[in-house]
Amino acid sequence: MHEVGIMESALTVVQRHAAERKARRVDRIVLRIGTLAGVEPEALRFAFDVVTRGTVAEGAVLAIENAPARVYCPACEREFTGEADSFIFTCPDCHALCGEVRSGRELELSRIEMS
Ligand SMILES: [Zn+2]
Repeated sequence: MHEVGIMESALTVVQRHAAERKARRVDRIVLRIGTLAGVEPEALRFAFDVVTRGTVAEGAVLAIENAPARVYCPACEREFTGEADSFIFTCPDCHALCGEVRSGRELELSRIEMS
């Protein structure tokens, strides 16, 4: 379950920010996850509860934002939204197979709220 490793590295960043700002507690953490990132939101939430126990982020709300996959079709010179959890993308206009995924694999901390 690599979600634990993901949350551990996210927590390291959160703890560093909290220490820099001398925060007493972390209220909310927003993670942005591409639909192709291959992580389970439920597993992430479970991992979050486990790794934050006893830390400054214990009890914080974990919000997850989904980032859609954007795929580029060179024939039409446009981007389209790829289906989640798919590895093969077909242009909705010309029906060509397109392999140029421009976004959708990101996994990033987009916001940390603390007090
Ligand atoms: Zn096309």
